[in-house]
Amino acid sequence: AKAAGGVRWALYDADRDRQELARHALSAAIPAALERGEFYLDYQPLASLHDGRVVGVEALVRWRHPELGVLRPDSFIGLAEETGLIVPLGGWVLAEACRQAESWSTAGGAAPYVSVNLAVRQVDRPGLVQEVHGLLRHTGLPPERLQLEITESTMMSTAAEPVRALRVLADLGVRIAIDDFGTGYCNLAYLRDLPVTELKVAGEFVAGLRAPETRADERILASLVSLAHALDLTVTAEGVETAGQAERLRAIGCDAGQGWHFGRPEPAERILERIR
Ligand code: C2E
Ligand code: CA
Ligand code: CA
Repeated sequence: AKAAGGVRWALYDADRDRQELARHALSAAIPAALERGEFYLDYQPLASLHDGRVVGVEALVRWRHPELGVLRPDSFIGLAEETGLIVPLGGWVLAEACRQAESWSTAGGAAPYVSVNLAVRQVDRPGLVQEVHGLLRHTGLPPERLQLEITESTMMSTAAEPVRALRVLADLGVRIAIDDFGTGYCNLAYLRDLPVTELKVAGEFVAGLRAPETRADERILASLVSLAHALDLTVTAEGVETAGQAERLRAIGCDAGQGWHFGRPEPAERILERIR
């Protein structure tokens, strides 16, 4: 029995090693994939809960891998963060999102902002301000039409660099959103220290909404909304999957919603039809 256990462990470890190897091979392939243009962006609408208008779109990266097919970000973003490759990859995402969003403004109609996810590694380094400033100048995208999504952990990560950089960017007019709000460390000091414009409340709170009962999630959401509004921030609820949830969120006072109810992430051309 003891020997069998040993064998099982050996297999388990071999399996883990294989996974680890595969992860590293995937990560090592990122620079070449960038050069070959294997990454692309889908966009998901952020809709006003009052009139349904698309106020913004979130850029979500995908990898069209030649052997593995289309990979979702969860399978490579974490790796890219660990290895630092998120800096060139995230830089590409930022540039591509600004480029595409600018072309939408000349396509007529009310122009939504484009919301881009930033990893800790991208914010926590000198050069972010210059990079964003250069992109805005180069693409001609007005700063108010770019939103940067950071997480609470970005703010907890380290020292003054992120705060300083985000302040300069906000002064330029760039919008700053806190992503997955309510799931990270509950230290609200950054709301005082940072020029945040929007809170994106994590979908797990929305999932608990069941009209007309008042559950804990509904009360948490209502408190987040009053906190946000007291600070002049807008609130976008994530993971809105049903009309019922959208209605409850509107009643609670949320400003915007994102989720399958309003639209799945779609390629640039499709989202453009939606914006028009
Ligand atoms: P996120 O920022 O929270 O993005 C929202 C995720 O929720 C997206 O998954 C989206 O497809 C999914 N989603 C949208 N509506 C619904 C809904 O109604 N129900 C449910 N169950 N899910 C919904 P996706 O595209 O797989 O992205 C996963 C995560 O990958 C993102 O989570 C974000 O943290 C990260 N990510 C995506 N693109 C980038 C990027 O360019 N840079 C960085 N650093 N991270 C990225
Ligand atoms: Ca996000
Ligand atoms: Ca989110």
